[in-house]
Amino acid sequence: MASEKKWVYFFGKNIAEGKNQTKTVLGGKGLGLAQMTAIGLPVPAGFTIITDACDYYYKNGKRWPSPLEAAVKKGMARLEKVSRKRFGDPQRPLLVSVRSGAALSMPGMMETILNLGLNDKVVESLGRQAGNRRFALDAYRRLIMMYGSTAMGIERQLFDHAFDEVKEHQTRVRLQQAPGTAIADTDVNDAELEAVVDEFKRIYEKHTGQPFPQDAYQQLKGAISAVFNSWMAKKAVDYRNAEKITGLKGTAVNIQEMVFGNMGDDCGTGVCFTRDPNTGENVYYGDMLFNAQGEDVVAGVRTPLKLEELHRIMPDVYDQLEAVRVILEVEYGEMQDLEFTIEQGELFMLQCRTGKRSPAAAFEIAVDQASKPLITPARAKELIRKKLVPRPIALKATKPLISHEAAVARIKPVDIERLFYPEIDWTAVQDERHAPSLEAAREAVWRESGLATGINAVPGAACGKVALSAEKAEAMARHGDKVILVRKETSPEDVGGMHASVGILTATGGKTSHAAVVARGWGKCCIVGCEALKIDEAGRQFSVNGKTIREGDLITLDGSVDKRHVYQGSLRLINRKPPAAYHTLMKWCDDARRLKVRTNADTPEDAAKAVEMGAEGIGLCRTEHMFFATEQRQLAMQEMIVADTEEARRHALDKLLPFQRDDFVGIFKVMNGKPVTIRLIDPPLHEFVPHTEDKMKEFAQRAGLELDYVRQRVHQLAEANPMLGHRGCRLCITYPEILEMQVRAIIEAAIECRKAGVKVFPEIMIPLTIDARELAILIDRTKAVADAILAEKRASLTYLVGTMIETPRAALMADRIAETAEFFSFGTNDLTQTTMALSRDDAGRFLPEYCDRDKTAIFAHDPFQTLDTEGVGQLVRMGIERGRSTRPKLKIGICGEHGGEASSVQFCHQVGMDYVSCSPYRVPIARLAAAQAVIASGDGGTKTRSKGKARATRAKAKAKPSTGRKTARPAKRKK
Ligand code: PEP
Ligand code: MG
Repeated sequence: MASEKKWVYFFGKNIAEGKNQTKTVLGGKGLGLAQMTAIGLPVPAGFTIITDACDYYYKNGKRWPSPLEAAVKKGMARLEKVSRKRFGDPQRPLLVSVRSGAALSMPGMMETILNLGLNDKVVESLGRQAGNRRFALDAYRRLIMMYGSTAMGIERQLFDHAFDEVKEHQTRVRLQQAPGTAIADTDVNDAELEAVVDEFKRIYEKHTGQPFPQDAYQQLKGAISAVFNSWMAKKAVDYRNAEKITGLKGTAVNIQEMVFGNMGDDCGTGVCFTRDPNTGENVYYGDMLFNAQGEDVVAGVRTPLKLEELHRIMPDVYDQLEAVRVILEVEYGEMQDLEFTIEQGELFMLQCRTGKRSPAAAFEIAVDQASKPLITPARAKELIRKKLVPRPIALKATKPLISHEAAVARIKPVDIERLFYPEIDWTAVQDERHAPSLEAAREAVWRESGLATGINAVPGAACGKVALSAEKAEAMARHGDKVILVRKETSPEDVGGMHASVGILTATGGKTSHAAVVARGWGKCCIVGCEALKIDEAGRQFSVNGKTIREGDLITLDGSVDKRHVYQGSLRLINRKPPAAYHTLMKWCDDARRLKVRTNADTPEDAAKAVEMGAEGIGLCRTEHMFFATEQRQLAMQEMIVADTEEARRHALDKLLPFQRDDFVGIFKVMNGKPVTIRLIDPPLHEFVPHTEDKMKEFAQRAGLELDYVRQRVHQLAEANPMLGHRGCRLCITYPEILEMQVRAIIEAAIECRKAGVKVFPEIMIPLTIDARELAILIDRTKAVADAILAEKRASLTYLVGTMIETPRAALMADRIAETAEFFSFGTNDLTQTTMALSRDDAGRFLPEYCDRDKTAIFAHDPFQTLDTEGVGQLVRMGIERGRSTRPKLKIGICGEHGGEASSVQFCHQVGMDYVSCSPYRVPIARLAAAQAVIASGDGGTKTRSKGKARATRAKAKAKPSTGRKTARPAKRKK
């Protein structure tokens, strides 16, 4: 029965009803509050409305579930009992906050309303009781503003403007402060705040037609609905889309007794991280403000203080906060993002959640937590002696908090992608300018084009065109521009524009400001607190230190060097080296994984890059790509294609042979000792011939052919469905001389390399097979050519000949095919195309609709990016089983784009492949995913795994449909 459902979970005074619940039910914030309460940390009492209520709200025309109102009243009654105050009662006023909190953190995307329960009467009694009328009025003006803008949709700017007016015309005059200087919120006195409150109430009434509600429960209900509504606000939806957050029920709502950081100078509020979220360093990192409330720190309205200031001013409170750090890191084994309030010298914790971090910090923190203690034994002793941390917890903190496996499991593919932050190429600048040192080069550029300094909230560098609003940034990015979003401060409304930008620059804010937190999550360079900026949004420009920069002008941000952050114009960027912790963690991945990781590379340069990224071989060398390298090669290739006799074709192939051989020599040398899979020619030949009249003329001239002949051959070669036409191994069935040339190039290159002492393991791969007999013919021809050359040169060489499984028929006939094939490589680009009857070239037009969860939601992911394990995956599994039924030791890999996508790699592990192969930059992602697949399936740990165990795992491995996350790279398809 619906009435039996528990809609709210209470926490406070050692009761934590939700402590064993999940984030899915209570949201991250709700669960954190319950668990902190259970641990015994100082958390103001309250209760959490579960996420199901939000789900119900949207499924039922924005109505609350019928028992919810009674449950909220009951929760409030309990809260009144625990706090010994009453909601709406001027004698003993209880004020509450109403805050959102979904299962996954969406910083600043949803709403919070503070100080609910204040009205005209309560504000006066609260002021009297606190002995501080100013504080009460400040709380009241915040309530009207937050409630008005959030629950009633009044433009926030109207309130801000009214507040500024009072500051300008009353506070400035009273303080006799010079025009243009900043007036802090804390400078506004009670009489002036009274004027602000009156004006706010007037704005409220004008826009809603009603006076500001004096009934506390009316406020509470409005605030809860406002939090529900904020779940579907554009900024929240944008954020979920950008972060690919799916499948959540909605937001939970946390109602909690207010504590006040704005009661005076012995009060304050702050946001901190248990480790530095930029570098990952094991230090307490945070910002705080004295005499401030709630959002002041995050919003960046005043420049915040470092946590060290708290240490200096309130050492006891700092010690308590340090104890919280130790307790929570030990409890969660993760870096935490904390919010706290100090009310008249007493510490209260308002939030703990897993902290967002830069990609470098992700590695640093994971490795540090898995290999080093959080605190020294001496510090542990001190915390025990001061009775701030229970002994068992303090002792745990003197040892590594997590295992190597936990460290590996925690890293996300996106952390790797973002790890390679760009930075300004100062070495190139030094060379260009013949500067005596890097420092001198920097100085010179700074003198010429330095604009301003700020706080480097997110490291890296970015270069792009200035956009002064989020909308403009999105529009410019749509046109293909790289954009730097420049704002006074960012707010959640700006999220779409922030996502579209490569860098973010704000005039205000600190390292935990909205801009910093959001940009860090995305690994985008972000400079905040750049106070010299004077932004003229209406005039579409900003001025800074005497220079004017217009929207669309280029600027460069440098987040990596202290104090020199914003430059006019563009500077060249390069990628940095990953931190040492990255290599440590990748080593742990390599120890854990069973799958080998190879690369798709067609040139010695790509191969070298891939080896640097950890590739253990080449899984796909697309030989036709080599023909594009120079005009000479292209010409020979085109001559070969338009040839209409074997003789003419052989003539052209003879020209191509030395090029191919040299390329293979280069690749074998780089891959010395590692296997190299070389695929024979694959694409439809027609793709390579000139198509326009001009190009045909040019080609005819250069090749010494008649234009008519060229025209006629191009016409003859045209196909209605080239991807299903004369391509793949069909080319070598009809033109065996192509196979002969390519095999000769491979074998001759291998012999040459072996003579030079290079270890060569070629694997010749035949593409797009559909039949066992077809393959047998080609393998016989391949071996005949290879063995004849080896015999002629009196050389010995171990080589394999195998095939790609790229068609459903090949997967179905895999047992027969494996009779001759010595290895299989799943070409899942074509296999997806042929299984789903979706053109990999054209599906982009309609697939987005198929994958849009707000439209059809037919597929969770683009099947060309993330392997369709349910459908295509069946053929993969069947191909492996059938192939190994005839050849039990058949070596099997994947070389489609899916080989570098984390959840697809996990599937490859599960179905017992031997390796995955992907582009060089995705090699580390595949290494990570392969290790995570082992850890997720409980196949063995980092340190304890043996090869025997790995084999046992393979035998046991079963395929399960995978729902893992996807990376954003599109499937590559240009032959
Ligand atoms: C494939 O089809 O998956 C493959 C790797 O080959 P290509 O992308 O070159 O067709
Ligand atoms: Mg293919």
